[in-house]
Amino acid sequence: MTHRRAVFVCCDGLGRDWVDASRTPTLQDMRHTGVWCAEHRAVFPSVTRVSAASIATGCLPGRHGLHGNRMGLLEGGRVVVRDVGNPDFRAHMRRATGTTLRVPTMAQRVATSGGFIAFSNVSPGAAYFLDPEHFGFVYHRAGSYAPQGVPIGGADALDVSHDLAGDWVMTQRFCAEILADRRPAIAVLWLANPDHTLHGVPLGSSAHLEALCHADRCVLEVLQTVERLRRDGDEILLLVGSDHGQETIGDCLDLEAWLSQQGLAPLLESGDIAVAGQGTAALLYATEHGRPRLLERLDALRAAPWADGVIAQGAMGEHGQVATGGLVAAVNMARRDELNPHGVRGRRWVVAEPGKPAAIGDGQHGGWGPDETNPFLIVNHAGSPSATLRQPTCITDIAPTMLRFLGLPMDGLDGSPLPLEQRG
Ligand SMILES: [Zn+2]
Repeated sequence: MTHRRAVFVCCDGLGRDWVDASRTPTLQDMRHTGVWCAEHRAVFPSVTRVSAASIATGCLPGRHGLHGNRMGLLEGGRVVVRDVGNPDFRAHMRRATGTTLRVPTMAQRVATSGGFIAFSNVSPGAAYFLDPEHFGFVYHRAGSYAPQGVPIGGADALDVSHDLAGDWVMTQRFCAEILADRRPAIAVLWLANPDHTLHGVPLGSSAHLEALCHADRCVLEVLQTVERLRRDGDEILLLVGSDHGQETIGDCLDLEAWLSQQGLAPLLESGDIAVAGQGTAALLYATEHGRPRLLERLDALRAAPWADGVIAQGAMGEHGQVATGGLVAAVNMARRDELNPHGVRGRRWVVAEPGKPAAIGDGQHGGWGPDETNPFLIVNHAGSPSATLRQPTCITDIAPTMLRFLGLPMDGLDGSPLPLEQRG
């Protein structure tokens, strides 16, 4: 009897336009032998923690409830902006909203039918939002957990470095232990690169190209393992993709300082208005008391040269968000059509984050710019003919594609399963 299972590999921050024969030969080959999603899209904001939650649930942020990498929570009548990357964020989110994600993850959906195991080398927040309530196994250098949140210690924990070498060590263990030996229904391998490298170097630099090469090598290791297991009789659906692309930091803007200059300083100080920066975008929060004053200033925000687009209240739905829980509006930062020193087009304004100077010239993401919203996705399945999908697809389609392959219900999802046609 065959053992059906699904595997997703995420090359964090690998934009679709970077896939080619010289930079990523394995991905280029898989693109031509599998199904290439030519119009694949990120969610908004195009940040890793929100993407992890959307990939895990098959839902847009407005439905799963994790707004951003930094997120405002209504605590004691005021908005408190918290970093989702901190280990205690889930406790704060539960206290403020009653839960973490509002919809089931893939880990929950396969908990009693084959199980879920993820290896992640990105931030702890992004790793744990793959399975925030511990239905499966999540391995991360900051702590690895079994179902019910039982800590995994000693040599079984994932002790890898947060760099290219760590991605490679993690990949080798994932192939040998998870794919070949433990064989869960759903296995996820989430590489830190090229995203981690790009946050410190320019797009198109030699370091970026080296990171692409390393990510491609990790994918090759997984592909060869999957092909060997298929020859032994396992039926495996392999999806390889990314969560978002990256763009170039051109300038930095302190949005809180600008709002203060607009006469909102007292409301910012009282916690009635707050800004949660998302790199090349920001989410704006307000209490009932602060909302009218914030809404009054949105036209001035729209007119600012560093703002590209502002959405508020009902229009948040155009970008997959819902104005609840204090969330009122969002701004996508402007883009100038200029080349970086390596010939990569586009320079973005970013929103200043407290205590974190913007690295002008390096990579960033978070908004709805043309490159950061273009992740890639390849479906590798022995039974499907090669094809290029021209219809729009989204990272929320990954969960339903895996669930349908496994024959499990796909109720309550924003995404749709990708077509997996049988050959012959
Ligand atoms: Zn990412």
